[in-house]
Amino acid sequence: MNADPAALPQLSTVLAAASMRADHWRQLNAYARAWAAAGTDSAERRGACVEALADLRPLEQCWAYPGERLLGALAAALADNDAAQFARLARKLSAAILSGDFRRDEQAWNADDDGDRTLLDALPPELLGAPDKPYFEVLIVTPNEPALWQRARDEMRAMRRVDDQFHYAVTHAGSFEDAALAAMVNADVQAVVIVDGFRFTSLLDIPDLKQFLARNLGSDDEPSTAGALSTSLARALKHFRPELDLYLLTDRSPERLAGSDEAAPLRRVFHHVEEPMEVHLALLDGIADRYETPYFDNLKKYALRPIGTFHALPIARGKSIFGSNWIRDMGHFYGTNILFAESSATTGGLDSLLEPTGTIKRAQTAAARAFGAKRAYFGTNGTSTSNKIVVQAVCKPGDIVIVDRNCHKSHHYGFVLSGAQPYYVEAFPLTQYSMYGAVPLRTIKQALLDCQAGGKLDRVKVIDMTNCTFDGHMYNPQRVMEECLAIKPDLIFLWDEAWFGFARFSPLHRRRTGLGAAAALTERYRSKAYRTEYEAWKAQRGKVEPGDPAQLDEHLLPDPDKVRIRVYQTNSTHKSMSAFRQGSMMLVWDEDFHEVEGPFEEAFFAHTSTSPNLQLIASLDLARRQMELEGYGLTLKMTDLALRLRRTINGHPLISKYFHVATPEDMIPAEFRASGLRDYGPPNASWVETLQAWDDDEFALDPTRLTVICGAAGFDGTQFKGLLAERFDIQINKTSRNSILVQTNINNTHSDAALLIKALADLSREIEARLAQEGANGRQVFADRVRALMTDVPDLPNFSQFHDAFREAPDGASNEGHMRPAFFMAYEEANCEFVRLHSDDVDRRLAEGPQMVSANFVIPYPPGFPIMVPGQVITADTIAFMRKLDVKEIHGYHAAQGIKLIKPDALAGLRAGSLQ
Ligand SMILES: *Cc1c(COP(=O)(O)O)cnc(C)c1O
Repeated sequence: MNADPAALPQLSTVLAAASMRADHWRQLNAYARAWAAAGTDSAERRGACVEALADLRPLEQCWAYPGERLLGALAAALADNDAAQFARLARKLSAAILSGDFRRDEQAWNADDDGDRTLLDALPPELLGAPDKPYFEVLIVTPNEPALWQRARDEMRAMRRVDDQFHYAVTHAGSFEDAALAAMVNADVQAVVIVDGFRFTSLLDIPDLKQFLARNLGSDDEPSTAGALSTSLARALKHFRPELDLYLLTDRSPERLAGSDEAAPLRRVFHHVEEPMEVHLALLDGIADRYETPYFDNLKKYALRPIGTFHALPIARGKSIFGSNWIRDMGHFYGTNILFAESSATTGGLDSLLEPTGTIKRAQTAAARAFGAKRAYFGTNGTSTSNKIVVQAVCKPGDIVIVDRNCHKSHHYGFVLSGAQPYYVEAFPLTQYSMYGAVPLRTIKQALLDCQAGGKLDRVKVIDMTNCTFDGHMYNPQRVMEECLAIKPDLIFLWDEAWFGFARFSPLHRRRTGLGAAAALTERYRSKAYRTEYEAWKAQRGKVEPGDPAQLDEHLLPDPDKVRIRVYQTNSTHKSMSAFRQGSMMLVWDEDFHEVEGPFEEAFFAHTSTSPNLQLIASLDLARRQMELEGYGLTLKMTDLALRLRRTINGHPLISKYFHVATPEDMIPAEFRASGLRDYGPPNASWVETLQAWDDDEFALDPTRLTVICGAAGFDGTQFKGLLAERFDIQINKTSRNSILVQTNINNTHSDAALLIKALADLSREIEARLAQEGANGRQVFADRVRALMTDVPDLPNFSQFHDAFREAPDGASNEGHMRPAFFMAYEEANCEFVRLHSDDVDRRLAEGPQMVSANFVIPYPPGFPIMVPGQVITADTIAFMRKLDVKEIHGYHAAQGIKLIKPDALAGLRAGSLQ
């Protein structure tokens, strides 16, 4: 059994112990079958079973199922040398674990297939098999002897009532370390009951446990008193899984405790001797709070009521459809519920998105809680509109926004609408893959310092970045915010986390989110320790002139008395969670929101339909419910799947000849990767080292976004995307010149992964066969094609500058410009002219002038960010890039007409900065 060391519970080498667990059970089942087939006296086969069970057992304590009783039966079969019984039980238990049937099927809890009723007798018959009741597990951390645990479980089980909305099973932990481990690996745990008096050190014998926990919990200090142990466990659990309901059972005065800071992470504090039924009801109540979807629940009720409608929307309740001769198939296809749930009313509890006071308001409050924000606003026109709302809410004409030019086009349109002046900063280029990374902190600081030197720091309002990027670059938002706030303490940060909404629920990704940073920095700046750190830093630093470039390489610290935490996050809920298309959220953590609230409302009104889609709002409510209850398990699973895909593709002897998944080393230049982390997982880095890198490095790569390089197989991105869709039914979205982007999501399964691997293997085999057949000539053609795709790549154009007419101080260092007047100049035909991309005119004007100035946005799609903006001077590298561009859809550019320019004589009369 131990031939494969990766199969051992070495936690530090494995991301998701839960998925490792499935492998263990599969393996145990296989050994058991082999033993039964070979006959009872095969000592070797029996030995394999003994070892497999011994490997598996210590970790099993983390799960309620199968639990000690069933595991005991399994062990007894082994001790009795009963191969048939062992195989039967191993099959039964592993099937129940792998399928999740134990959540629905009471028989799974029964060692004996024919019904040993002892366990079941305790339950009223109507509870047996409660297939519709959601199931969860409760972790009890207790000083009691393990021998007493089973009885406690049976007692809690006996408290089940028919009216309970959910049912649960209990698992126990006897120490801080075991409790932390169980909450980490068991995604079914939704609530933890902490009983004062337990010990710190694990009762289990698991290698690397301490290191694993220390890394994940952020501290390995052992608290000194029993009470402190309980509260420090509560804090650690909340840090790792903020959604968990935590309860404390204590002999200390619960009244006094409940009012103290210690109790902040706790949902309730109980006195030790209190009624167990109270605890049972509190547990269910906690889940009900997360399960409740105020808007969706009400919409369901609304749909069932007999209502005569005399408002707009003829399809409401299906009336214009089911009675129709010609569009009845619409009703059949969509089903009746969607039509019964349609209304244009804002009465009947349906609330109004534009002025929510009821169920929408409550749904938004729940979303704020779930995502760790102070406020949440639902958006029904995608993050495209959410970004415009936020930009317009926080900016007015003349404000400067330091913004990644690679931001989604919605930001740039937001600047035109609000009259804000973009100061474009550049992401580091990944020329070899024809894509951009993210904006280095040094670049952002340089922009701030330039504005400081130019005396216009007070106009810099917002730092606007995409996190994570399309291709998976994750910022270190804590570090970025800390250093920017040191230069200007009231800066607003807009983190466009369109792809990254799920990240809140993954303990790995959360540390790299805008809202995660808001929480961490708020705590940090309030602490005494920070004040000391800041004072010491300030004292040794002395006086610094505004704009002093020495600050670029210094880790700057903000003044704790001045700093404000002001974070806006937008996310396309539909991109990473179970919401309908266009479902989006705007999440706010702004200590000065009172300044923004009015403008925010205006911007929301300006952009939001007065007939927002009800199903969409309901789906946002549901997406929140799902993530708050199973987001932890789903995000860990998707991350695990992505890591397996990465390993399999890059380790496959044939596939890796032609395809390669870009690693952190490929995607992040060494200067931004201080840890030196090259790739995920062994042999490159242990999981502990990976987390360290995620904490500290300037950029990290989200493993769930896989850039698959296909150029070495002779495919360009677009071609390969088409091939995957046509031949293999695999859909992907983004391509570059020589790569495609494969995203794993909360819906992906091992079969999806297998489909992709199979496609890559088939294609690799075909290429091999073709090359073998074609001889030297064919191989040369292939090599040339690969070189064209992989080596002969165009340089990526940087933002040049705005034309002087649109700049305030053409000689200044800072590059912000008035984009709005340029945008509107193009509305006058007389101001504009066209030049054909492939004409000599273009080359001549590049060489001799007059400068070509773009009249509008030119945005290749995907990826959807502008390579030209209104008023921008067009340079040779932009032209070269355009000429080589490999996507078909380029918004703002029509090949037949050419590039739209503002005529030189229209600009000639304009004085620099005369436009607003
Ligand atoms: C997709 C995307 C948007 C737009 O979101 P929609 O929900 O499609 O409107 C904005 N920003 C980024 C970074 C995106 O990827």
